[in-house]
This record gives sequence, structure tokens and C-alpha cells, in this order.
Amino acid sequence: MALGLLETVRRGDTVLLLAAPGLRLVKLIFACQRAGLVAVPMSPPDASKLGTPAGRRHLLRAVAQTRPAAAVADAGYIEAVMESPVAALKRLRWVPVGHLESRGGPGDTAAAGGGPGYYGGCAPGETYLIQYTSGATGAPRPVVVTAGAAAHNVRAARKAYDLHPGSVVASWLPQYHDCGLMFLLLTVVAGATCVLASPAAFVWRPRLWLELVAEFRATCTPFPSFALPLVLRRGRPAHGARPLDLGSLRNLILVNEPIYESSVDEFVEKFGRAGLDAASISPSYGLAENCKFVSTAWRGADAKLRSGRQLSLPSYKKLLPSARLPPLVASSGEEPEIDIVVVDGQTGVPVEDGVEGEIWVSSPSNASGYLGQPSASREVFGARLPGRAGARCFVRTGDCGVVRGTERYLYVLGRSADAIATGDGRRRVHAHYLETAAFGSSPGSLRGGCVAAFAAPSPSSVVVVAELQKGRGNNVHPSSICDGIRRAVWKEEGVKVGHVVLAESGGVPKTTSGKLLRGSAREMLAGELIPKVFEALYDEDDRG
Ligand code: ATP
Ligand code: MG
Repeated sequence: MALGLLETVRRGDTVLLLAAPGLRLVKLIFACQRAGLVAVPMSPPDASKLGTPAGRRHLLRAVAQTRPAAAVADAGYIEAVMESPVAALKRLRWVPVGHLESRGGPGDTAAAGGGPGYYGGCAPGETYLIQYTSGATGAPRPVVVTAGAAAHNVRAARKAYDLHPGSVVASWLPQYHDCGLMFLLLTVVAGATCVLASPAAFVWRPRLWLELVAEFRATCTPFPSFALPLVLRRGRPAHGARPLDLGSLRNLILVNEPIYESSVDEFVEKFGRAGLDAASISPSYGLAENCKFVSTAWRGADAKLRSGRQLSLPSYKKLLPSARLPPLVASSGEEPEIDIVVVDGQTGVPVEDGVEGEIWVSSPSNASGYLGQPSASREVFGARLPGRAGARCFVRTGDCGVVRGTERYLYVLGRSADAIATGDGRRRVHAHYLETAAFGSSPGSLRGGCVAAFAAPSPSSVVVVAELQKGRGNNVHPSSICDGIRRAVWKEEGVKVGHVVLAESGGVPKTTSGKLLRGSAREMLAGELIPKVFEALYDEDDRG
């Protein structure tokens, strides 16, 4: 495949990868490495929607940002592009992935160029790939990952999760997102075995994930925490199915979003019967700007699961820690080279134990910036602690966190972009607290992970949009669901909800990696684009 690519492009060129997740995409990623190309793995936008501005926006933006020498996709996809009216896409040099697969033989590998090793002979400072952020808070951003940063991140994550040639990693995460890609590289570098499933298969039948783990005796599996409720609600065995044995799992890595103690407890209780060891739950934190991996909590569930309760974190009690931090400045501990601090976002001064601040990360895994965005890159990648002018820069993550206790656990509380100011701006609450309270009021009627809370700009009020379960729960009157949401959010978080909108399935917008798009939900609601089933309007005087 590397040879085939080099017929069209030259070493050092940038290539868009638009193949569907799976073995083909895996081979393509490694072919780009072998040929010394800069790969840009992307979620392929729905071919049937390329005719609409929204359907092609991200792809056109990526073409403008990365200026690829070629784009690789399935033949059917290329046909759809050629039939679309979009000249900027038609002009690209398209290479069908099947054409590459049928090219060359084992004897040709030396001719593919590149060098030995996993990074295609790239020097540490050379660009290895462009990785898009998920776009949860705005347009996805192209992060420039050097070979040195990728190698360091893979090393750090491999050590943290103790991966070795005997390990088996089961993953359904798409390889075009940072997490799926990282676990792929990690497995290969560790010489471990990787068992892949398609994301669509998981969504269609969530139990497939557990069956994979059991069938292949997986020792490690990454899992976005938003999908836990999906497995809990829809993971029932088919009639006559063999019982699961999850006893092989050493690391169930929960990533990408806040990790709730309650859903982890429920999960462990339910699948403990299938041999799931609670000590395997590994809440982790990462972001594309640091390649992906930043930290994972101390191994051993007792310490992890109890710590949240024992520390009696004021309103953070429902979250699990995502890391045990090394000492602030001396930076030693589990991963000495990844320095994490929680600072006052305005001054950069580290905050005290228990005080909320912004999480900053400095490590050799830091990406080198956003492609073609010098000022945003300086802003995000060039932060320095006061009084340490010559020292290494930190990445401003935009995430809020708190460090607690002698163990120095880091709790990731949420993104500052999604925090909601309430009570005349005197208090800031993280959206997911409100969403958890709202969902908890009617778990049988609402879809888990499909509840979004945000502030309406005018008149200033808090809005909750929640998707109704298909079929089930429809016998509950919408107004009592809305009432329940409003009551629960008030009781648990002390926040008054202004509007509740119950949407049809799919009404709450998400990224292709399954993250809530709260900002888009607000815009869609303003444009009346959310398919509403029922809307309840509340204010202080009028309860109905
Ligand atoms: P964008 O930057 O485009 O808005 P994104 O931040 O979602 O998208 P990624 O870099 O893929 O793109 O995701 C990293 C983010 O995911 C983190 O900055 C954080 O907000 C969230 N996240 C990751 N792990 C955790 C965790 N354990 N707890 C809470 N949030 C997490
Ligand atoms: Mg981000």
C-alpha cells in the first residue's frame, strides 16, 4: 500500500484518509508511516450529505487547512464525491483504497522507502500525523503531532496500562479519532494483539463489546464513558447466549468524558457476576493536544472507588479521579515526564488543594500546535507558570479540575466552555452535573448520554434538552417528565431550569466520537431545528 501511495504522492506529502474504520484504515495508517507521508485520519462525512453545506463543511475545511496531495477513500465514496456538485472536492487527487490493497508483494517492501521502526524513519521533530480534535466546543482543530511526541505518548500509555506481548486489546473505537488511533499504535508497539470491531456494530448491539472481551480473553479495552449507560440498558444477552466471562480484563479504560461513580458502580455490580474485577476500572484523562494520553488513576479499585467518597468532595462526589498527580513542581511519580498542574486560569498560579482551576499539561507528548493557526497555538500550547520563564511550556487544556487529598488525585470536572453561570453569574456549574441530575429523574424514559444542559443567551436561563427513549417510557406524560427534570436539577444542584425540551431520538447533536455538542444544541434550538416532542416552559411565577 505504501508503494501504491508513492505512485501518486511523494515522501513528506500530506494525505487525507477517509476510509471507514477497520482493518483497511489500520493498514492505510501504517502504509502512510512506511512511505513517510503525513496522514490525516478523518471521519468520512456521510456521502449522501455532501450535497448540503453542513454535510461537507468539515471536509472542505480540512482540505483548506491541510492542503493534501491526495485523499484515500473507498471506491463508493469517491464515486459519491464525483457525483456531488462540490468542485473543491472533485479537484482533489482521489485514490481508491482497494486499488492500494491489490498493489505490490512482500518482496517490494524495501522499495516503499521510509525507514525501520514505527514512525516511518521520521526524525523526532518531523510531523508524523495531523490529528483532528473532536470538535465538541467548536470546529474540530488540526493538531500537529510530531514523531517524537507520538513515540513518547505511546511509551507513557503503554507503561501506565502495562501492555506487553501477551496483552490483548479489544476496541471498537474508530481509528480516525485520537483515542482509537492511540490504542492501535500502542498495541502494535507493545507487540500485543488487537481485536477490532466496528463502531456501528457496537451501537447496533452494545453487548458485542463484552462478547469480544470474553471470546478473545482481552486484558485491556478502551471505552468512552458515555457508552456505559448504553451497555447497561441494552446489553442484555440474547436468548440462549453463553454466559460471559470477563475475568481476563486488567484494564477497562474509561476515557473522553467525566466518569461517574454511580454508573461505574452499577456496571461493576452488574458485570461483577461475569467475573469483572472492579480493580480493572481505570478512569483516564487525555486530549488530542497531548497526542491523547495524559493520565490514569492509581491502579486498584479500592483506592480509586473509595477515594471519591472518602475525600467527601463537596459537589464533586460523583466523579472518579482521572489521575494521581505527581508532586507539582518536582514532578516525579508514576509518569515523571508528564507534568500536570491545576492553576488559576487568569494568573497561571497553581491553586490550593480542593480549589477548582484549569488543568495544564506539560510533557514531551505535547503536540507542536494547531496547523496554520499561530495565534491559537501560542495561546493554547505556550502557557508558562509564573517565575518559570525558561522552563517547558504547558498546554492549556480548557478543562477544569481539582486536586484533593494526600494522594493528590486529579478530578476532571468539565470544560470551562460548557460551564453555566447561574444565580446572576455568582456561581458556575458544570453542565454534566445538571445533565446527570436531569437523567436520574426519569432513567426509564430518557436516553442515557443524550441529555444536554446549557445557558440560553436571552432571556438568561438554563435549558435542558433530553431525548426520549424510543417506545419505552412513552406512556409517561411528557409534562411529568419535564417536572421531574426540573425538580431533580433544583434538588440536587440548586439550579432552576428555565426550559425543558423533550426531543426525538437523535435530536441532541453529538460529535462523531459521541460527545455532546451543547453549543450546537443551543443554536439548533434557537433555529427550531431540534425535533421537539414536547416543550415545557417555566419561569419563577408561572409553574406551568
Ligand atoms: P474540541 O477541542 O474540538 O472541542 P475535544 O476537546 O472533545 O474537542 P479531544 O481532544 O478528542 O477533543 O478530547 C479531549 C477532551 O475530552 C478533554 O479536553 C476533556 O474535556 C474531555 N475528557 C477526556 N478525558 C476526560 C475525563 N476523564 N474526564 C472528563 N473529561 C475528559
Ligand atoms: Mg479540546
